[in-house]
Amino acid sequence: MVSRNVVVSDTTTGIITVSNVSNSSVFSPSAQKPPTAPGYISISKKKILKNLEINGAQSQRLNSWVDSMRASSPTHLKSLPSLSSQEELNSWIKRHPSALDMFERITEASRGKQIVMFLDYDGTLSPIVDDPDRAFMSSKMRRTVKKMAKSFPTSIVTGRCIDKVYSFVKLAELYYAGSHGMDIKGPTKGSSGYNKDKPSVLYQPAGDFLPMIDEVFKQLVEKTKSTAGAKVENNKFCLSVHFRCVDEKKWSELALKVRSVVQNYPTLKLSQGRKVFEIRPMIKWDKGKALEFLLESLGFENCNDVFPIYIGDDKTDEDAFKLLRERGQGFGILVSKFPKDTSASYSLQDPPEASDGFLATVGRVEINAAIKEQMKGF
Ligand SMILES: [Mg+2]
Repeated sequence: MVSRNVVVSDTTTGIITVSNVSNSSVFSPSAQKPPTAPGYISISKKKILKNLEINGAQSQRLNSWVDSMRASSPTHLKSLPSLSSQEELNSWIKRHPSALDMFERITEASRGKQIVMFLDYDGTLSPIVDDPDRAFMSSKMRRTVKKMAKSFPTSIVTGRCIDKVYSFVKLAELYYAGSHGMDIKGPTKGSSGYNKDKPSVLYQPAGDFLPMIDEVFKQLVEKTKSTAGAKVENNKFCLSVHFRCVDEKKWSELALKVRSVVQNYPTLKLSQGRKVFEIRPMIKWDKGKALEFLLESLGFENCNDVFPIYIGDDKTDEDAFKLLRERGQGFGILVSKFPKDTSASYSLQDPPEASDGFLATVGRVEINAAIKEQMKGF
């Protein structure tokens, strides 16, 4: 009996793990023939093994992985409206109501507390577009975030590297937690009242991984160059392989290529998000830890008068949503038009709803409150 590594995708966490299993189950006749129902991709095991030089990858597990990729990137649901999907959506919205509809309750819960705002970038402040280098935020969104940052400490928490996301956001007064929180910087000196006399670079927990990340980046570029539409992005402390523009029939092939590189680096973790594979150092650090670190940096470590709000659209944002639930402070808002498993309390449909709706309203309420406070003095 021969033991082989297999890829297992957890559809809840998006984490892809490699397990050592016996070949008896992996290469059973039923496992060699993937289901032919709509949505599954039939792919030759021999061809995969030969072309990609991967031992033990098997079609049943592969289908599970591709299904997980679809679940993380649910654009295909747009073309399949049905009564059951509408019922599922209605049920999900009852459990995660629109943050706009719940605004009064949110305002009441935050009364007398310091709101601290955490914002994911892709899919939250900017739309998901085909070219990740052109994921620009609108001028209106920028104005809204700028106004909001005058009222409360505001952080961008993203998988992108700080330089890239800053080139999109262009607001020096914000905190930035790039590379999934592994690169945290404060506002540029003098641009904000929240970081007086504090260093701009706050924390980089994965500094030792930089040479390895660069090495894996080069290998991934080489390995994926034959997959049309695949794009590898170096986010400094982590890597992204975008499959926004890859034909869905090629997703499984791309997944195996990525895995064939990453499996040689046991200290790196491969996970999947919304139309993207993420490769990160295997350290206990995520967007939730970054949120916690920023709250501490701002002096809210053991404070009951703080009300953090985190808005994000992807699996990596779930760590932050969970943290807020555990702390019993503030809440998470998931940006999604589709039902997803989430620890967020509320939902918003898309970036415009987040900008024109929620963020703008929060800003107005805060400004009105400030004016009322000033009026008391007369
Ligand atoms: Mg996002």
